[in-house]
Amino acid sequence: MEEKLRFYKDEGNYIKCQLCPHNCSLIEGKFGVCNLRTVKNNIPIVINYGEVTSVNVDPIEKKPLYHFKPGKDILSIGTFGCNMSCSFCQNHEISQNKPPTEFIDIDKLISLIINIPNNVGIAFTYNEPFMWYEYIYDVAKKIKEYDKNISIVLVTNGFVNKEPLEQILPFIDAMNIDLKGFTKQYYNEVCGATIDSVLETIKIASKHTHVEITTLMVSDKNDSVEEIVEIAKFLASIDKNIPLHLSRYFPKYKMKNPPTLVENMMKAKEESTKYLNYVYVGNVAGVDNNTYCPNCGYNLVIRDIYTTNPHMKGDKCPNCKEYINIIF
Ligand code: SF4
Repeated sequence: MEEKLRFYKDEGNYIKCQLCPHNCSLIEGKFGVCNLRTVKNNIPIVINYGEVTSVNVDPIEKKPLYHFKPGKDILSIGTFGCNMSCSFCQNHEISQNKPPTEFIDIDKLISLIINIPNNVGIAFTYNEPFMWYEYIYDVAKKIKEYDKNISIVLVTNGFVNKEPLEQILPFIDAMNIDLKGFTKQYYNEVCGATIDSVLETIKIASKHTHVEITTLMVSDKNDSVEEIVEIAKFLASIDKNIPLHLSRYFPKYKMKNPPTLVENMMKAKEESTKYLNYVYVGNVAGVDNNTYCPNCGYNLVIRDIYTTNPHMKGDKCPNCKEYINIIF
């Protein structure tokens, strides 16, 4: 379904899309970098409004979110398209192509959300959620009007302009934001984007909502311990309670490097834990991903893959009363 763009400027002989930092110049029949936004009959439009490629009920830990509603499930949906072009993309079938879709209107989505047991809300994930901004904004607004206790989650690359980000944040309860590396070169050459606006998104979002960060450690690309420590220091400069998920890379799409060494990941975890209170390792079997109190070491949440057992309620360690950044 087509919908008129919300963020653009009419420059006379072209339309400037202002949703993401690519700031593409759109003309009749020509799409922007994301292949989703164009001009049709002189109207700037997006072509994926409400068009869903993937629907699942996932453990919220799978997003990954470890410090938001632990042990709950969340309805997870995605469309197609992306404003990045990561050569390792784990979901390239939907991010870089246009697979079959099913239109889901907002009332049907709300009905789905409230009829799933143990479900806390909806996560926009699988592809880049800001790529169907108009839809997720309308869904988020209507859900909060219906019941403000339904959680709305974004799993995003964070490559979005400030104005659209700030307009949607009041409806968002939690975000997992990819920080794919910590160099301009990596973002330019591997992801087809720039890092500065992603860092800005993390800073802005952290002031308004619960934020966790994921870094996919790609062997021989961004997996040096030094680079991960730089990420940890940056996050700590915002809030050392931001959870960091270090995720193991496996060859996928165009990237042929071998899987990341587990020893390297564990060393990166050990070093980044000197700056952050919560660092986890994903895509590796048998690692300890429990949450421990940063003050007394009490085991607060026990995790075994996607089975989660919290040993606390509220936001205080039951042993020493230290503040813990977990939302139940
Ligand atoms: S959302 Fe798409 S068309 Fe708009 S600036 Fe970003 S890549 Fe370009």
